[in-house]
Amino acid sequence: MEVMFTPWRYEYVKTVDQQEGCIFCDKPSEPEGNDEGNVILSRGKRCFAILNLYPYSTAHLMVVPYEHTGTIENLDAETLGEMMALTQQCMRAIQEAYGPDGFNIGINIARVAGAGISDHVHLHLVPRWNGDANFMPVVASVRVMPLALDTVWRTLKELL
Ligand SMILES: [Zn+2]
Repeated sequence: MEVMFTPWRYEYVKTVDQQEGCIFCDKPSEPEGNDEGNVILSRGKRCFAILNLYPYSTAHLMVVPYEHTGTIENLDAETLGEMMALTQQCMRAIQEAYGPDGFNIGINIARVAGAGISDHVHLHLVPRWNGDANFMPVVASVRVMPLALDTVWRTLKELL
């Protein structure tokens, strides 16, 4: 488990630290017309789904509450429930589009646990395929090249 969850840290540490503000607050506050550019897949009442800009596998996405808080301890039951429901919808869409053999679902709370954006909690949904190489970022700083984000966005958007 640790090996699979730890790599998520690396991509964000080097990119997000240089940015102002919070992308998980900023992106959904933009008009829905920008959703394709922002790779937002779905907007619910209390949370939204967005593709990971630096995916570890095709269709690696995140389910994020609109509320800016660093831990699920601060989220109410309705928000938690909607996060899981949206995760379920995303899993079904990914399953239909890409037929993965499994998924990792994970939430990193605080930087020590690997959260790159530690101020705004987010759930990672990572499709897995038999024989995929998710361990590679750890051992060799190499990632398997997933499908282009805009292609994945269009495919999943249709299914959600
Ligand atoms: Zn935020």
